Amino acid sequence: MYDVVISGAGPSGSVCARTLAEAGYSVVLIEKDTSWRKPCGGALHPKVFELCPELKKLNLLELKQIIMHSADNHTLKYRSSFMENGAVADRLIFDNFLREKCVEAGAELQDKTISYDFTKRTDTKIGIKTKSVSETKEFHGKVAVISDGMSSKLAPKSGIRLKWKIDQLAMGKCSIIKGSHDLDENTAYVFFRPYRGYGWIFPIDTKRFNIGVYTFGEDNLKRNLDETYHEFLRDPNIQQYIPKSNFETIWSSTYPFPIEGVLQKSLNDDNIMIVGDAAGFISPISGEGIQSSMISGNIAAKTAIKALEEGDFSKNSLNYYKRHSEVKALIKEFKLKRSMIDFFYENKGANFNRLVALTEKDPEFKKQVIDLFISEEMQIPDKEFFERIK
Ligand SMILES: Cc1cc2nc3c(=O)[nH]c(=O)nc-3n(C[C@H](O)[C@H](O)[C@H](O)COP(=O)(O)OP(=O)(O)OC[C@H]3O[C@@H](n4cnc5c(N)ncnc54)[C@H](O)[C@@H]3O)c2cc1C
Repeated sequence: MYDVVISGAGPSGSVCARTLAEAGYSVVLIEKDTSWRKPCGGALHPKVFELCPELKKLNLLELKQIIMHSADNHTLKYRSSFMENGAVADRLIFDNFLREKCVEAGAELQDKTISYDFTKRTDTKIGIKTKSVSETKEFHGKVAVISDGMSSKLAPKSGIRLKWKIDQLAMGKCSIIKGSHDLDENTAYVFFRPYRGYGWIFPIDTKRFNIGVYTFGEDNLKRNLDETYHEFLRDPNIQQYIPKSNFETIWSSTYPFPIEGVLQKSLNDDNIMIVGDAAGFISPISGEGIQSSMISGNIAAKTAIKALEEGDFSKNSLNYYKRHSEVKALIKEFKLKRSMIDFFYENKGANFNRLVALTEKDPEFKKQVIDLFISEEMQIPDKEFFERIK
């Protein structure tokens, strides 16, 4: 029996496993397939490097600037020292780097193994049922952490949260494209669209970039994602950055993600915690989830350590996770952003157009937009800010 059994070795599960293994606890990390590249833009918030400073060894292109484009061609450029600690990663390399760090710390990684159900829970024990090509096997621990992302079978089976409904999801399609480009290698390009969602181009290196779009809410049903993606690629605004025709798509994929933001009541029960995408730790509007998933994994590990020290794996003991200040701050931020979605996207994103156009004329207004969407600590603008956009 392990101290902690973790299902899913994405960023949230790996950070959780590493923190536990470094503290000397026995951990098994169950992973469906380490050769799978998670569909993702791969933009890394500076906080990711605080949680895993060794990532600097990957020599990723630093993000020093962001350019936001409105659907009607206005732009907001922002450059700051805070941005310079962000980067863009190829998720296959990034995820496997984090997994290596867990194994070096002493965690056991079970690759090509799918978790699909729980065994009976007792006060002191919980088990996860798994399948691999050769066998079905149960892994038992005192605590189970569910970090197997959007498609988690265990999260809805735990009874802690329901299955996501279609209107709680965003649908993204992204590719890694190879070929010479006219992109600034240290800039993230974001394009608001006349529908719920946005498009992006994130340079990975001199010859490769990640490009994609996502839609959410009612636009998931109204629009065909594949057509939306190709329409985005053909847009003259995008073509100005990728004018050459000798491009090769070296990888492309489509994937959903929960966009409503996490609910505090959906995080834990006796012996179980849910972290990362499996719990909904994705920022509404921006769709960023790597750093918040890693934060949730880290706090879940600290919660499990406390529970192991005290020998108490009850829901009450594991409530430490959802009550932790870092988790509460994320939940609060997601809730606020969720409450702004209808405002920004009403009338085919007209308010996003106005917002970006206003930043071109008014530096004080631009600062408020940066504080709301980009800077380290989100600042809520005053009522006048929203009145000016209307
Ligand atoms: C199109 C798209 C673009 C995005 N772009 C960005 C971005 O640029 N920046 C950003 O910060 N966030 C972005 N996100 C969000 C980000 O990808 C996620 O928030 C982040 O990957 C969540 O990490 P996680 O560890 O919780 O889950 P995941 O990364 O999904 O990892 C889950 C892991 O569990 C494994 N697994 C799944 N099922 C099972 C099972 N049954 N048994 C065992 N293992 C299993 C998977 O193989 C995977 O390794 C994007 C998401 C999408 C869909």
